[in-house]
Amino acid sequence: MPDNLSQPILEVKDLKKHYPVIKGFSRRLVGFTKAVDGISFAVPAGQTLGLVGESGCGKSTAGHCIMRGIEPTSGQVIFYDRTRGPVDVVQASPDMLRHLRLNMQMVFQDPSSSLNPRMTLLDIVSEPLIVNNVARGKELQDRVADLLRVVGLLPEHMHRFPHAFSGGQRQRIAVARSLALRPQFIIADEPVSALDVSIQAQTLNLLQDLQEQFDLSYLFISHDLSVVEHVSDIVAVMYVGKLVEMAETETLYHNPLHPYTEALLSSVPNPDPDAVKNRIVLVGEVPSSSKPPSGCYFHPRCRYAKPECSQEAPALREVAPGHVVACHFAETLALRGVTAVRI
Ligand code: SF4
Repeated sequence: MPDNLSQPILEVKDLKKHYPVIKGFSRRLVGFTKAVDGISFAVPAGQTLGLVGESGCGKSTAGHCIMRGIEPTSGQVIFYDRTRGPVDVVQASPDMLRHLRLNMQMVFQDPSSSLNPRMTLLDIVSEPLIVNNVARGKELQDRVADLLRVVGLLPEHMHRFPHAFSGGQRQRIAVARSLALRPQFIIADEPVSALDVSIQAQTLNLLQDLQEQFDLSYLFISHDLSVVEHVSDIVAVMYVGKLVEMAETETLYHNPLHPYTEALLSSVPNPDPDAVKNRIVLVGEVPSSSKPPSGCYFHPRCRYAKPECSQEAPALREVAPGHVVACHFAETLALRGVTAVRI
């Protein structure tokens, strides 16, 4: 865990989500799919931590475990609630969980499927206010109108249904709903992946403006490194359920220490047509988390692998203040960051 962080809003400690693998008529337990396998990180208050990795690496499962949408197998998720102080979300009672969810909200990937098509904007955005007994009647309508204005939508459209809006506007509706209870912390799970590129930038700028305006902290989950670079203060990279590297954004993008991070960064698009094309193509498939390779999980695809890599799993260790990495040879490899790739 980096030790140069400001006061955290959320600390995740050794979080695990293992699914049992059952086989045969006798329903024999034959192993576990380790979707999330002991990850630890902290989100500083008022900042954004970007969680990146390929599809299936466990980043969304981690997000749902933090919200207790999925029950974690073990670990701690300490949330610094503005009224109750530090609370372990994993151990929280149903009453406490209900309270915590006022302060912890989630924005999902595809606004088309996360918004009920039979509900108007007024119904959608006001629902958390009604359920939590925050406002009624005229006050409720005024609160919804304010929220729509905050996310750049017109209050006079509150009686329309989601299908009357574009993808970007629908994501704004989802953001308005997540803000209804004035949360401290939002998990944004691939919030712009389903949007056109031109709309992505608007949505990211909106999230950043709202962060400043409401002093929000974000856990921003994405497979897109260019998007994560734009919004994150700290970036954590996941591979097959584990964290393999974490550092402040600039450090990680310009001085990666894990070969997997280097490969991901080499795929960040470069607008310069004269840039040297130095893309690292990873060979082979992402291993299954129910049958990961021995030693370092990345060794079958790593171009720097040595014999010991397949025998001994590298521990996640701090190699510079705030920079942690899980690679036996982090100090000796000369890896390329985005600057070098963009020469
Ligand atoms: Fe590659 Fe070995 Fe480092 Fe794993 S430990 S990332 S296989 S060099």
